[in-house]
Amino acid sequence: LIKPIDKISALLELYPKGMAGFRRFREMLSKEPEIKDAPNAVSVDKLDGNIKFEKVDFSYDDQQQVLEDIDLQITPGETIAFVGPSGAGKTTICSLIPRFYDINSGAITIDGIDVRQMTKKSLRAQIGIVQQDVFLFTGTVRENIAYGNHQASEEDIIDAAQKAHLHDVITKLPDGYDTQIGERGLKLSGGQKQRLAIARTFLKNPPILILDEATSALDTETERIIQQSLDQLAENRTTLVIAHRLATIRDADRVVVVTNDGIAEEGSYQELLANNGVFARLHKIQYEQNQN
Ligand code: ADP
Ligand code: MG
Repeated sequence: LIKPIDKISALLELYPKGMAGFRRFREMLSKEPEIKDAPNAVSVDKLDGNIKFEKVDFSYDDQQQVLEDIDLQITPGETIAFVGPSGAGKTTICSLIPRFYDINSGAITIDGIDVRQMTKKSLRAQIGIVQQDVFLFTGTVRENIAYGNHQASEEDIIDAAQKAHLHDVITKLPDGYDTQIGERGLKLSGGQKQRLAIARTFLKNPPILILDEATSALDTETERIIQQSLDQLAENRTTLVIAHRLATIRDADRVVVVTNDGIAEEGSYQELLANNGVFARLHKIQYEQNQN
């Protein structure tokens, strides 16, 4: 049951939207060029997460340029937040790092190695992704946390669940870690699914972490609690956060404002507020919305 999922798990992480996700996944397989390993691709291990975009141009369809001349450098261990209007290209920027797509020109390197020179498998093993929609497959809680990792011991799985504050929920289930979830099994709440995704990522223990609006579908109270787990997950990793609510990125080392014209501003949260530019306007709009 886990085997075929193992192979495609990296792709599924991009499109984990149940049936809709599978439809897009199939479309992607049929329409988009397959990303292949270079003939001499290297297997990377224990990257530091020194991520560099140099003059990156990218389009999905060779017609409309989505990213143009993007330069960006991310320091190992840094937490960098991306904010900006929907459709500006935040998710696209992040999906180029695991090489879900190839760029048209420029280069993306990690620790000085071009991602196109790495094997996809080893590259993606270094990157954890937590996003709004969590892909659950039909199987047990244990299998869903392990997510194709056959090396994971029972101890590792429990440890990951504890770090994600999911262990106590699981032990109260009728069959504990053997409880069936997914399509026909037990339905998990949005917050529990998010915790499961966090447990998966603790188990994977990648040096690079991408959090793509992970908590935006949750109610404020659940979001607040999950946010604490995400903060713990981000510790000692190079973390890219795409934030919907600006309050969640107050402590980011750096905030990058992405608009349809590219990177508009970057700096600390407080610096950008003081700049009185795009970020300050976004902030004002969100603050006013929260008053209503
Ligand atoms: P953001 O995350 O900032 O909301 P995205 O990176 O998702 O923005 O989208 C940037 C642009 O790329 C948008 O115009 C969007 O419609 C387009 N886009 C995103 N994903 C795809 C895709 N898989 N195929 C074609 N166009 C896409
Ligand atoms: Mg997005």
